[in-house]
Amino acid sequence: MRKKILSLITAIVMIALIVVPVNASIIDDGYNGFATRLYTVVLGRTPDPVGLEYWGGRLRNRQISFADCARGFLFSQEYLSRNVSDAEYVTTLYRTFLDREPESTGLSYWTGRLASGSVNRNTVIEGFSNSVEFGELCRRYSNNSSGSNGITVCIDPGHSGVVAPGYVPLGPGSSDMKLADTSGTRGRYSGVSEYVLTMQIANLLRTELEARGYNVIMTRYDNNTPVDCVTRAQTGNNGADIMVRLHFDGLDNASVSGAHSIVIAPNNPWNPQTYAGSARLGRCIIDSYCSATGIRNRGVSEQNNMTGNNWSTIPCVLLEMGFMTNEHDDLYMTNPANQPSMVNGIANGIDAYFAS
Ligand SMILES: [Zn+2]
Repeated sequence: MRKKILSLITAIVMIALIVVPVNASIIDDGYNGFATRLYTVVLGRTPDPVGLEYWGGRLRNRQISFADCARGFLFSQEYLSRNVSDAEYVTTLYRTFLDREPESTGLSYWTGRLASGSVNRNTVIEGFSNSVEFGELCRRYSNNSSGSNGITVCIDPGHSGVVAPGYVPLGPGSSDMKLADTSGTRGRYSGVSEYVLTMQIANLLRTELEARGYNVIMTRYDNNTPVDCVTRAQTGNNGADIMVRLHFDGLDNASVSGAHSIVIAPNNPWNPQTYAGSARLGRCIIDSYCSATGIRNRGVSEQNNMTGNNWSTIPCVLLEMGFMTNEHDDLYMTNPANQPSMVNGIANGIDAYFAS
């Protein structure tokens, strides 16, 4: 009997020895840090290792956004089973998304709207997860990942093979509706679709930026996922320092060539605070891109009719890399031999932006 107990103890010690190193190897980066925070703030407990690896891993592998992760906790059975009051729920949202206690006016505003039924618990999250404060909170965590220089770039490969349906507001709270996304242009000489080429350049740019120490997130990772322009902006807002949107131009007139940056105008009604950064980023990238590629430099355009730019709460540039309807530009940009120059030009422009 004593022998059996002894071997049982030995077995327990062995298991403990096996388990402990696994626990010790849990990655101590911003993604696990963010998930740990949600365990604390939403569920009020320390994370279990399996759950922590699940949520941290999904964030690290870009399978979910920070906002999705927070929603996962707020709609978990564990949290729902507590049947919290509206006031407790709103307080949890303040702590989760804004990292602070609610002020009394904010608390009564949201509990009043929940009580009247003008918002529900799902939609009230939107306001919190789209806030500038939540974006800053996410950046603190995403910039704390291994190998990172502390800067996160969001790359938005324009369009998609499956176009997002419907309409979205031109800016936050705007009654002016625009198409959620469009199919984009197509190479008149190469036959390549814009969404295919934006994804190719995005993947090359991601590799280049990561090699330079940047942390990179993307608004889409394949050509089958529809992404509307508001969601594109929100992906960048939740965790990135800058947003680089990749596009190619198209016109009936085949003689028109060249690249340009599009940023918001100084009088942008929605996010004018990002104008200075966006204009400087647009200038850095277009000058560097054109000098690396020899593509004609058409400068920086300032306009308030780009949905994804208008929704960005971080410096944002939409880079039109050239005309796919112009023979020179189209054949240059679709030639894999030239793409490293294009990508280096963009990455050099990003380096210059953060260096100055
Ligand atoms: Zn486009």
